Amino acid sequence: MIEDFECRFCGNSVKGKGYTNHCPKCLWSTHVDVNPGDRASACKGLMKPHSVVYTRTNYTIVHKCLKCGEEKRVEAAPEDNRDALASRIKSGPIVI
Ligand SMILES: [Zn+2]
Ligand SMILES: [Zn+2]
Repeated sequence: MIEDFECRFCGNSVKGKGYTNHCPKCLWSTHVDVNPGDRASACKGLMKPHSVVYTRTNYTIVHKCLKCGEEKRVEAAPEDNRDALASRIKSGPIVI
């Protein structure tokens, strides 16, 4: 499902790609998926990017839903703000 959306945290206009559901600028997301891209969740809560894990190949963002508390991991997209990612790293080497 490809859809454009406005970030509910910073107001940034996000060009949807059908998979990424977080804002590349502030990394906040919305709880809309049960599995990535399916938009099957009824929660619709705001998801905070509370930490980032750097794995050898990419950043993984750990989102926590402010409404239901569920945690989800998602791979960072190439257009995601590198400073925003780096500033949230909890563990692992920082390699950019
Ligand atoms: Zn945003
Ligand atoms: Zn939720």
